[in-house]
Amino acid sequence: MEKNQNHGFVEKIKNAGKDAVLSIKTKASDLLMNNSISLKKVAVGVAVLTVFSASAGVYKSVQGYRVFFNGEEIGMVRQTGDFMAGLDLVRNNLSEQYDANIILPSDVRFERAIVSKDRLLESPDASATAIEKTNLTMTVEGAVIVIEEEEVAALKSYEEAEEVLDSVIASYAQLGENEVIVSEPIIAQDYEIVQRVVPYVNLRTKEDAVKYIMQGTDEIIEYEVKPGDTSWDIAVNRGINVNELVAANSDKDITSLRPGDVLKLTEVKPYLDVEVVKEMVYSEKIPFETTYQTDASIYVGKSEEVSPGVNGVKEITALVTYRNGVQVAKEITNEEKIKDSVNRVVARGTKPLPPAQGTGRFRMPTSGRVTAINKAGSHAGSRAVDIANSVGTSIYASDSGRVTRASWYSGYGYAIIIDHGNGYSTLYGHLSSMNVSVGQNVTAGQRIAGMGSTGNSSGSHLHFEIRRYGARQVITRYFSYLRVGGRVSP
Ligand SMILES: [Zn+2]
Repeated sequence: MEKNQNHGFVEKIKNAGKDAVLSIKTKASDLLMNNSISLKKVAVGVAVLTVFSASAGVYKSVQGYRVFFNGEEIGMVRQTGDFMAGLDLVRNNLSEQYDANIILPSDVRFERAIVSKDRLLESPDASATAIEKTNLTMTVEGAVIVIEEEEVAALKSYEEAEEVLDSVIASYAQLGENEVIVSEPIIAQDYEIVQRVVPYVNLRTKEDAVKYIMQGTDEIIEYEVKPGDTSWDIAVNRGINVNELVAANSDKDITSLRPGDVLKLTEVKPYLDVEVVKEMVYSEKIPFETTYQTDASIYVGKSEEVSPGVNGVKEITALVTYRNGVQVAKEITNEEKIKDSVNRVVARGTKPLPPAQGTGRFRMPTSGRVTAINKAGSHAGSRAVDIANSVGTSIYASDSGRVTRASWYSGYGYAIIIDHGNGYSTLYGHLSSMNVSVGQNVTAGQRIAGMGSTGNSSGSHLHFEIRRYGARQVITRYFSYLRVGGRVSP
């Protein structure tokens, strides 16, 4: 004889979409092989301890009933009330387990018959066990949220459905700092809660239902971009088209993906459009401007910041309309200056540039024939050279420097003096034209004048001197090749 142990149910949820049913049955193998596991699985515990007497040979014919449950004959009882009590036991246990008002199928039929002892369900507990062994489709007195005539989510009570809708609305009406709701959230759709019997397996938890209504889908699948991925690859490999990928990621430019970017593969399409108008107060900077002034102590072309700019601040009040958390409109209702900006002040230099530094080496300033090196007066001691050529012959700066004279200079006629900034200066006399002016920087080899015969001169020639701290230098020390009658060129 078999001695039954305390045993429970192994639940198995067959998910087949909305038609899924919950089947509850006892698995004998679990009971026999691992008692501790089945004890853990006691969900709807129905203690059954049936001891069959060894003297069962005393056979008594008794009037009773065959029981048909959901069209299936599942045993016999002496009293119909025993079976109905068993059904109540199962319903109560399931209702307690699922915390819901479970409804079981009520298709029960009894047929009078002589009781056969081996098929007798001796007690309500035995009936319960037999009921639990059948495939039970549980339903509950629940509530369905219907949006625009579409059944969107089933909850186990009207109250839960109400809480779900409140949560959806509340999540869009959440306020940030310095935000105030100025009008109640408006829902664009028709929606209602319908109370009706719902298969248990179709129920959603409140959290699930809120998420589902807000996302329009059960799960937002994300994908992390790998090196070499294109948006096309990502879309095609996952059976979606690129437009859907774009729609699901409106915050990103999917034409320039970088490894590590996270893309949503499903689009959020909330069932409810919740529009909320919030008044926001926020500050915005007022950018400073830059003003300029001149400064004679700063070289031309350079500038210095006199004082830094400081951005101002304005406080803005705006009415912002959000639809499903996304800003769709903004109306600025007030702007108030909190702090003035301070202009940045920049000084631009006007000071002439310092003389270009000479190299200390001198170039022959023109071409022509040497007519004098050492003669009485200004040439005494080889302290100048005369080079003759036609009027207008180009004269070039012998070294870099700054022009300190470009004007009539008594016997020199029109003359230019260049200060080379290293103690040296050079003088060019008897010019017919001058191309530079005082203060101008010139570089070695730059054309500065045309040859002429102005001042104390008997014919077109250049009188050229090199001076050191103002003193005329022996010219042949710098141009050792000079010979009267010799030809020179730059
Ligand atoms: Zn001379």
